[in-house]
Amino acid sequence: MAFGFVRSLRFRLTAIYVVFFSLLLVAAGFVFRAVLEDILGTHVREILEEDWGLVRAYLRIERGKVQWVYDRADPDENYTVERLRRVYLLTDENGVVQQVSTVYQSLGIESPGQIREAIRSRESIIRLRRTADGTPFLVRSGVLWDERRKPYYLAIGRSLGERQSTLRQFTLRFFPIFPGLILVGAVLGWLITGRALRPVNRLADTAQRISASSLDVRIPPRGAGDELDRLIEAFNRMMERISASFQQIRQFSTDVSHELRTPITAIRGQLEVALFAAQNVDQYREAIGNAMEDVERLGQIVKSLLLLAQAESGQLTLEKVRTDLAASIRNLLEQFDIPAGEAGVTVVTDLPPVCTAQVDRVQFDRLVSNLVSNAIKYTPRGGCVVIHMRCSPANVVLEVRDTGQGIPKADIPHIFERFYRVRTADSNQGEDSNQEGLGLGLSFVAWIVKAHNGCIDVESTVGEGTRFIVQLPTWADFGGAGRELRTSESPHDSDKLTLKNK
Ligand code: ADP
Repeated sequence: MAFGFVRSLRFRLTAIYVVFFSLLLVAAGFVFRAVLEDILGTHVREILEEDWGLVRAYLRIERGKVQWVYDRADPDENYTVERLRRVYLLTDENGVVQQVSTVYQSLGIESPGQIREAIRSRESIIRLRRTADGTPFLVRSGVLWDERRKPYYLAIGRSLGERQSTLRQFTLRFFPIFPGLILVGAVLGWLITGRALRPVNRLADTAQRISASSLDVRIPPRGAGDELDRLIEAFNRMMERISASFQQIRQFSTDVSHELRTPITAIRGQLEVALFAAQNVDQYREAIGNAMEDVERLGQIVKSLLLLAQAESGQLTLEKVRTDLAASIRNLLEQFDIPAGEAGVTVVTDLPPVCTAQVDRVQFDRLVSNLVSNAIKYTPRGGCVVIHMRCSPANVVLEVRDTGQGIPKADIPHIFERFYRVRTADSNQGEDSNQEGLGLGLSFVAWIVKAHNGCIDVESTVGEGTRFIVQLPTWADFGGAGRELRTSESPHDSDKLTLKNK
C-alpha cells in the first residue's frame, strides 16, 4: 500500500518538484550571499580609497622625518588620524620600517625585496590579508613621495571582520528558514498536482466502471483544450469505437443465431414429418430431401463464417496461377442463369475474348459471384445487371453495374464491414424477403481484393443503381498489405467509396 503510494504519479511529481524547489532555494541563497559579499567588499574598498587620500593629506615626510600634521585640538581629526594609523605601515625605499601599527605587525611586514619591487612598479595594490588568528583585512599599498621626490612604501588596511559578521548573520537567518519554505512548497506542490491529476483519476474511475453492459460511459471534456482534454477526447473516441464493435458483435450473434435457427427449425419440421406423418417412401424421400437442403444451407453459413475467420486471421493462403479471367467469368455466370431468370433480372456481359492475370482462381470466382449475386439480389424485377471487364498489361478492371435499389449514402462506408447489412423496411420485416444474407459477402470481396493488392470502388444512387469497380494488378505480388478507405461524392450525385491497398 505504502509502496503504491510512493509510486503514485502525484507523489512522484511532488517529490520532483520539492527537489527542484530545494535546489533552487539553496542556489538562490548562495547567489544572494555572493552578491552581498561583493557589495560589502566594494564598500570596504571605497573606504580604503578614501583613507588613502586622507593619509596623503595628513602625512608629511620632510628631510627623512615622518610627521602627521593635523589639528590636535579637533576631536574629529584626532579620531580620523587614530583610525588611519590602526592598520598602517610606512617604510623607506629599502624596506626600512619608519612607522608601523601593532595590527599591521600581526599581518606581517613585507620583506625589503617585496617593498623594493612595489616601489619599482609604482602600482597601488589591494590585497586580502589575514592575521595569525585568521581575521581578514583588506590592505592597500603603494608609493608615497617626500618633498624631494624620494619614494616611500605606504600600506593601510581595513578589517573585513564587519563584513564577515554581516555575512554570517545572513547565513544564520536565511538558511534556517529553508526547511519551512520547502515544507510550504511540498504542501503547495501536493495540492497543485492533486488538482492537475483529478481528471486523470476521474478517467481511471470511469474506465474501472466500464463493463460490457456500460459501454456508453463517457467523460465530459473540461473545455480547457489541454493535454488532459485530448486524453479525454481520445478515451471517449476509443469508447465509441469499442461500443460500435460490441454492437456489431451483438448484432452478429443475433443474426447468426437467427440464420442458424431458421434451417434448424425447418430440418426439425421435416424430420418430424418423416417420423410421424410420412406414409410411404415418396413422402419419406420428400421430407428427407427438404431436410437435406436445409442442412446444405446450414453448412454454407458455417463454412462462410469459418472461411472468413481464417481469411482475416491470415490462415488462408492464396494459390496464384495464370488464369483467363474472361473465361472464368463466362463459366461462372452460367450458374446465375436460373436465379436471374427467377428474379426477372437480365444479366449482360461485356468481356474481352481473353484477359489473363495471376489470381487465386477460387477466390476470384468467389469475388465475382458475390458481386453478381448481390447485384441480382438487390435489383428489382425488370432490372438489368452489366458485367464489364477491361484488360491492360498492368491491370484488370472489372465492373459490376446494376439498376437496383442502390445503397444509402450513410451505409456506403460500412458495407465492407463484417456482418453489416443495410436495414430496409423490407429486410426488417422478415426472412421471407429475397434479400436475406449474413452481411459477409462484401467482407469476403474486400479481403480478396486486398489479398490481390487491388482496390475496389463503389458508386451508388438510391433508386437508380450501384456500380462496383474492382481493379487488380495483372501480375500481383500477393501480400496482406494494409488497405485504405476513401469516400467521396461522385460527379453524378451518387455516393462513392474506395477500398484500396497501399
Ligand atoms: P449480404 O449477405 O447482406 O448481401 P454483403 O456483405 O454481400 O451482405 O452486402 C452488404 C450489404 O450491402 C447488403 O446487405 C446490401 O444492403 C448492400 N449491397 C451490396 N451489394 C449491393 C447492390 N448491388 N445493390 C444494393 N445494395 C447492395
